[in-house]
Amino acid sequence: MTTALISHADCLEHVTPEGHPEQVARLEHVLHALAPLHLLRLSAPPASDEDLARVHPQAYIARIAGAEPAEGEIALDGDTWMSPGSMMAARRGAGAAIRAVDAVMSREVRNAFCATRPPGHHAERETPMGFCLFGNAALAAKYALDHHGLERVAVVDFDVHHGNGTQDLLWDEPRALFISSQQYPLWPGTGAATERGAHDNVLNLPLAPGSGGTEMYRAYTEQALPRLRDFRPDLIVISAGFDAHQDDPLAQLKWKDQDFAWLTRELCRIAADQCEGRVVSVLEGGYDLAALAGSARAHVEELIEAGK
Ligand SMILES: [Zn+2]
Repeated sequence: MTTALISHADCLEHVTPEGHPEQVARLEHVLHALAPLHLLRLSAPPASDEDLARVHPQAYIARIAGAEPAEGEIALDGDTWMSPGSMMAARRGAGAAIRAVDAVMSREVRNAFCATRPPGHHAERETPMGFCLFGNAALAAKYALDHHGLERVAVVDFDVHHGNGTQDLLWDEPRALFISSQQYPLWPGTGAATERGAHDNVLNLPLAPGSGGTEMYRAYTEQALPRLRDFRPDLIVISAGFDAHQDDPLAQLKWKDQDFAWLTRELCRIAADQCEGRVVSVLEGGYDLAALAGSARAHVEELIEAGK
């Protein structure tokens, strides 16, 4: 058993305006950092409308597809852009998450990392947001529940921004537990501890601006990891954003590479105890190119170690 890296060159065709933090170079840096590692490299297939409809209405999918410009870039909101190729890039991101679930469920690999963009965890049911078009992590969870018949899937989101989209898509899903840690307050403004889901199936861990690995360790050790163990997941999906890193320009947490490694190790340990090690990790944010590359590598190295 091993670890899969699922990606596609089409994810480099989603182009944002000069100076936009969610840039093509992010994925190039991640792939370069992972190049020396022993991984099973798989191509991300494009998600079909039927796949995407597990989490978004058909009218929304058509609206996004129809918004793609023939040339140049257009804004869906102040942050979220599309270029020629964006729809296919987003389809590959969603398709990678599905492919990853299939790969771990069939025991082709122990765990998988999806290196794709645009990211997904801010996309709500009918609203693109925060650089995101489709909810890849929530889709992975829904697909695992409905297609593979799993009883319980956990999604753990350690991106520095609240996973409002994933929370929206899983709010009413009693078979899913959504755990999200985020700097709070910070854009998008949601993610307070009082937001707990329709079935008490959401756990938000607000972290104070300026806090670092020690505070993260405490929040996860005291709240998230015990809750995750009690849930007894059949699969753990990780929304892996690396913008809680101390060098990231979009937020003020002070995590280091080894903090991402520790957290990944703990999640993989629970997966090993409870679900044969099944972990599907999807790339979300991370906007300092060197910090993104280093922390993504630290994350994937732990997945590899756990996959041996
Ligand atoms: Zn983020």
